Amino acid sequence: MKIFDLHADIGMHVLSQKNKNETNILKRYHIDKLSKGGIFGVGMACFFEGHETKETAIQMVESLRDEINQNLDTLNWYKGGELDSTRINAMMTVEGMCFINDYPEEMIEWLYEQGVRIGSLSWNDENALSTGVRGNPLRGLTELGKRTISRMNELGMIVDISHTNEKSFWDILEVSSKPVIATHSNARLLSNVDRNLTDQQIKALIQNKGLIGLVAAKKFVSSDEVKQNSKELAKHAKHIKNLGGIDNLAIGFDYMDFLEGDFGRFSMASDLQDASESQNFINALIEEGFDQLEIEKIAYLNVQRFLEDHLK
Ligand SMILES: [Zn+2]
Repeated sequence: MKIFDLHADIGMHVLSQKNKNETNILKRYHIDKLSKGGIFGVGMACFFEGHETKETAIQMVESLRDEINQNLDTLNWYKGGELDSTRINAMMTVEGMCFINDYPEEMIEWLYEQGVRIGSLSWNDENALSTGVRGNPLRGLTELGKRTISRMNELGMIVDISHTNEKSFWDILEVSSKPVIATHSNARLLSNVDRNLTDQQIKALIQNKGLIGLVAAKKFVSSDEVKQNSKELAKHAKHIKNLGGIDNLAIGFDYMDFLEGDFGRFSMASDLQDASESQNFINALIEEGFDQLEIEKIAYLNVQRFLEDHLK
């Protein structure tokens, strides 16, 4: 079955390989795995941990843009409207906007012009716009952050709340005039980590007509090592469905097999190690008792509807 994966840190990978003088990075590392896994759309994230400058942000976004542009035989550079059914839809996203310290409108407009269509204001850190899960729990969205969201809403850039702390989460839901996405977060009731969503947050996202992308990073699937697999991830889907979210479920695997350092291959669920293994999750959904239409909704239909509605 075809799958839309809302989140992979491919932008970060592209820049780090480019800095080692490598070229053709999407072709060399990514496109075959995506095809093999039946991925027909992917959010390619430019990921910023909190210390990066505007210069680095510009380099990363431009490098990813150029790489997508070089592969238009296999990739459709998706910026809105209908998704392509013959090529992999590549959408540029930004994770963390620590590089914005003033005049957010200018930078948001520049990102939009480059093709970025989903953005989160912070990663786990706290910055001039918003507060991530490792920041001060009493600090939420700032005035600059409110301006950022308002410009994103006007342009048609979707707000991603996956790394925000709870205060920022509620602030963003109040401020945003458009539905939001958690591109890669699971249910906290099944795995108690701060990046997963409480039932109250899940219900709020359902009411918001937003999306929740299920993530295959092992700690977000389960704290129990034997349960860090696609079967347990399907239980997160079941839990969110039981809260009324069958039309809000999506996928944001967050594969990290290509990253070095603290992240990397050992971060993933046992049978979802890289994009080529994505169909294991579809099989797990079947085993968990989801019917065909429900699985299509989770795999791509909900995302397709959301993107085609909100990115015209
Ligand atoms: Zn992330």
